[in-house]
Amino acid sequence: MDIVKGLSMHRESDELAEIRRAVRSLCEAFPGEYWRAKDSVREYPAEFVDALTKAGFLAALIPTEYGGSGLSLDEAAVIMEEIQASGCNGGAAHAQMYIMNTILRYGSDEQKSDYLPKIASGDLRLQAFGVSEPTSGTDTLSLKTRAVRNGDEYIINGQKIWTSRAEHSDLMLLLARTTPRDQVEKKTEGLSMFLVDMQQAVGNGMEIKPIRTMMNHSSCEVFFDDLRIPASALVGEEGKGFRYILSGMNAERILIAAECIGDAKWFIDQAKTYASDRTVFARPIGQNQGIQFPIARCYSQMRAAELMVHHAAAVYDEGGNPGEEANMAKLLASEASWAAADMCVQTFGGFGFAEEYDVERKFREARLYTVAPISTNLILSYLAEHVLGLPRSY
Ligand SMILES: Cc1cc2nc3c(=O)[nH]c(=O)nc-3n(C[C@H](O)[C@H](O)[C@H](O)COP(=O)(O)OP(=O)(O)OC[C@H]3O[C@@H](n4cnc5c(N)ncnc54)[C@H](O)[C@@H]3O)c2cc1C
Repeated sequence: MDIVKGLSMHRESDELAEIRRAVRSLCEAFPGEYWRAKDSVREYPAEFVDALTKAGFLAALIPTEYGGSGLSLDEAAVIMEEIQASGCNGGAAHAQMYIMNTILRYGSDEQKSDYLPKIASGDLRLQAFGVSEPTSGTDTLSLKTRAVRNGDEYIINGQKIWTSRAEHSDLMLLLARTTPRDQVEKKTEGLSMFLVDMQQAVGNGMEIKPIRTMMNHSSCEVFFDDLRIPASALVGEEGKGFRYILSGMNAERILIAAECIGDAKWFIDQAKTYASDRTVFARPIGQNQGIQFPIARCYSQMRAAELMVHHAAAVYDEGGNPGEEANMAKLLASEASWAAADMCVQTFGGFGFAEEYDVERKFREARLYTVAPISTNLILSYLAEHVLGLPRSY
């Protein structure tokens, strides 16, 4: 554990150090055995999510006037990083931290006062984010789920895929098309955001089907068949949903990048400890440069990515638009964590595959982040086009 603390060496305020300590202390109650048991039957880690909620960590970004902690994004990022560095899995709850941003920024006063205090207290879980669809993939503007206004209601038809935590959320932020694509002036218009009450919707036009994946992530398919929701569920202006999604992406990418840094620290810590303890040919394997160098390389890679994560968070917290920095943070951090995961398995040799060491579980969990919430290629495309001014490739 000490090494992970030692790894957080960018100059930190006492507040950040205190957040790290508090998160670590909470995570100690959720050791590897807990996660292994959940993983083996793909069960939602409800106790862990409840503990995070009660401690106020998931309400980090909700302003104090709505009952949240009113922390900065950099502080929220440290929470997610420490969860991962402790061997836990923040993927079970991270969305509760950032999805509410759309309501905070674009919701009506009524939506904010109705929902944010309950989300902050944990009475309502807003953990489901319905964007991805099976046929449109990364091309969000091609999504097909329709919301048609009918008097005081919208009627929803269509399908989402990979809606994580859908079975464990009271509310879903849903992106659906309100104006057909061939009838909008700009192709980025015509999509709208809705806050769907899932408790009411399930069985009344909404059906949720879990997808079994390589790790315990509670992802689902969600089907809409004439689901009726009140017109008051619309968030912000009709037709502007894509813009709202884009504006929330920087925070999401920075927080996920921070999780990747935490994962990388966990893998490096495990590898370092194991390499010191494991003796083969009458000496610790860590005495061999063939074992040392990959650990040192991963450490350097992680530290460089960590700087970018904090830099991106700082730009965000200063009110800037860190599109470039948030994308680079996510790219570098997800690659650093995956490199560290691979290095850790190699360092452990055969024991890297044994469940009891948690390396194989974290390896499976860490694999996600070069694909979701945005894949590496799409980040590179963003940087090529929007930062470097190269021609748009798609
Ligand atoms: C476990 C899990 C949880 C998820 N949770 C959620 C969630 O809660 N809510 C939600 O809305 N979505 C969620 N997703 C979806 C996730 O955001 C997408 O899987 C991801 O954005 C990639 O989209 P896709 O799977 O449709 O891949 P595709 O778009 O089909 O792409 C497949 C591959 O082709 C590449 N590619 C596509 N187009 C181009 C191009 N023009 N140039 C170069 N390469 C290209 C991509 O980079 C990728 O490598 C989740 C996914 C997973 C696996």
